Amino acid sequence: MRHAIVLTSLMWLGSSVLSEQSQAMEDVASDWRVAAGAVVITPDEDIWMGGYAARDEPADGKIHDLFAKVLVVEDRHGERLVIVTTDLLGITGELRAAVELQVKQYGVDRKNLLMNASHTHCGPELRSERLLRMGIDSRFAALSRHYVRWISERIARLVGEVVSRVEPARLIYSHARAGFAMNRRLPTGKGFINSPNPDGVTDHQVPVLRVENDAGEIKAVLFGYACHATTLSFQQFCGDYPAFAQQFVEDAHPGAIAMFMNGCSADQNPYPRRTLDLAKQHGRALANGVETALMTKKHIELTGTLGLAFQHVALRFADPPSRADLDQQLQSGNRYIRIHAQSLIDELDSAGHIETEFNHFPVQVVSLGRELILVGICGEAVVDYSLRCKKELSRGPGTGVWVAGYCNDVFGYLPSERVLQEGGYEGGDAMRYTKFPGPFHSSVESRIMNSIHQLANEVAPK
Ligand SMILES: [Zn+2]
Repeated sequence: MRHAIVLTSLMWLGSSVLSEQSQAMEDVASDWRVAAGAVVITPDEDIWMGGYAARDEPADGKIHDLFAKVLVVEDRHGERLVIVTTDLLGITGELRAAVELQVKQYGVDRKNLLMNASHTHCGPELRSERLLRMGIDSRFAALSRHYVRWISERIARLVGEVVSRVEPARLIYSHARAGFAMNRRLPTGKGFINSPNPDGVTDHQVPVLRVENDAGEIKAVLFGYACHATTLSFQQFCGDYPAFAQQFVEDAHPGAIAMFMNGCSADQNPYPRRTLDLAKQHGRALANGVETALMTKKHIELTGTLGLAFQHVALRFADPPSRADLDQQLQSGNRYIRIHAQSLIDELDSAGHIETEFNHFPVQVVSLGRELILVGICGEAVVDYSLRCKKELSRGPGTGVWVAGYCNDVFGYLPSERVLQEGGYEGGDAMRYTKFPGPFHSSVESRIMNSIHQLANEVAPK
């Protein structure tokens, strides 16, 4: 079928060019077998929502359904990459572990599975322990635990179904740009506040992976962008701009599954924001970026095999606060500082010390053929990680580097050494919403980058 299309379009070029072209495309097509699928993961009752600690009531209906989507890429040796994208605030360690366990039966191991959250702030809350810590009615923690089990089963079943129907395909990588993400760390002279900073660092690239079947039909479009999904802050389930972008791409390519992976967007916000119409506008802007990437002649056909590597890195936190510091924090006018201090005092009382190691930080690196390297960083990584990886991992012209944040275990914020030194929300203040003691140790960026380089070497085409 595809050869018929090539025949028609190249008829005037003459038969020798035609046969070379057909031969080249035939070789390429044999490299991959691919399939994609989607499943609804909207909670069937109004459970607590993730994003914005100040929420004081559960969800009240939905704007549209939330989805989990699966892309399976198989190389000619039968090695598989399974990418799961979700309209969720984060992938928790618990969700990842539950999915990982259930997909083993499909030959999908830890290193074969990459899970990403769009970071919509209008999705369900998955962290039942956090709800309890925040003093929210324990009924919602139970609903949250039940929801995690329920979606893990739905996602795992979808993986099994998609794995069973992979078909020969071409993988084509390209990129364009979209401009609505803006740095949100505004220096005031006394520190950094969460406010638009038009002069701050950004990553406006829109990476796109297009899957075409033998007939030349687009079957899936995986795209990324580094921007918080925080246009909206209301009480209805909604996937924010990433969901609208996916919808627009699917509308433009009937029969294709569109999937979104958030990038290193800890310090990036969509502006302006706070209305549904703006979420749709940002979705449209991103979908336009995707369409531009799909039409650009500067695209790269991926050839070769998969390289897969996954590692847990040990990170350290700075010295924890003393008992006296914590007692003082209990008097704070900020409720979240009091809650955080109390949880650390409880830890001190029960364990005798505050844990300062985070030794299961997942880092994942995938080589998609000779031409594309995909890095999956866990947590909310600031944009510095993306820019640094693109510079340091590039294999030169005709190749691409794609860096996704919000992968595998979104535990909290991940600052670079620069942001850690500058301080502010992403530098350490946001830790007060987690069970971790405080800012990371200054070695955080070098430990993660060393791991990324090591894994990138492991997966490099030999
Ligand atoms: Zn965030």
